[in-house]
Amino acid sequence: MRALVIEDEPRLARNIARMLREEVGYAVDVSGDGEDGLHMARTNPYDIVILDLMLPRLDGLSLLRQLRSDSVTTPVLILTARGGTDDVVAGLDAGSDDYLTKPFEAAELLARCKALVRRSYGSADDAVRVGDLVIDTGARRVTRGGRRIVLPPMEYHLLEYLARRKNEVVSKTEILEHLYEFDWERFSNVIEVYISALRRKLDQDGEPGLIVTHRGMGYMLQEPGE
Ligand code: CA
Repeated sequence: MRALVIEDEPRLARNIARMLREEVGYAVDVSGDGEDGLHMARTNPYDIVILDLMLPRLDGLSLLRQLRSDSVTTPVLILTARGGTDDVVAGLDAGSDDYLTKPFEAAELLARCKALVRRSYGSADDAVRVGDLVIDTGARRVTRGGRRIVLPPMEYHLLEYLARRKNEVVSKTEILEHLYEFDWERFSNVIEVYISALRRKLDQDGEPGLIVTHRGMGYMLQEPGE
């Protein structure tokens, strides 16, 4: 998953980015002003945008209205320093999905981000199931037929992304854009490596393969027999 943090206080922006990277494993881009943030949110497929309201060059509410009028539906969590209900109402009217009042607890920010991402991919709880494969995205724990599968972080993130989009063909570019930060092109050769590592670990003892390659198009995590 990939997040954009639009926040002009450098220290807060850095802290939020670090939490998202370390605690939930998101790729994170940071922007320090409204115009640049709007441009980034329009041109990259983020899974969530964390948006401060008081920003240089373009305020958060105008940014959000602009984004929604361009039909960008990425979930947006507003950070408001003022805490007034007027701000919150205006934010929700402008198309935000949730809000937090500064100062906030790290755990609450993370929980809200995870919930927004989960909802945007259409799941009601932390577990994603594909056949007998179960991915508990809260605990980052993977099992197949009850067998525990331990994955290094990037293999896990790739699997979670394919699972969120199960039964859809996902292109290599989409995978790269959702797993890496702005310079994702340079990672393009590693996806095949991760896919073959995942296959080796997921499919054992004649179990049907879960990851299907669609030549020239991408990969699909698919329920066996579908
Ligand atoms: Ca600010």
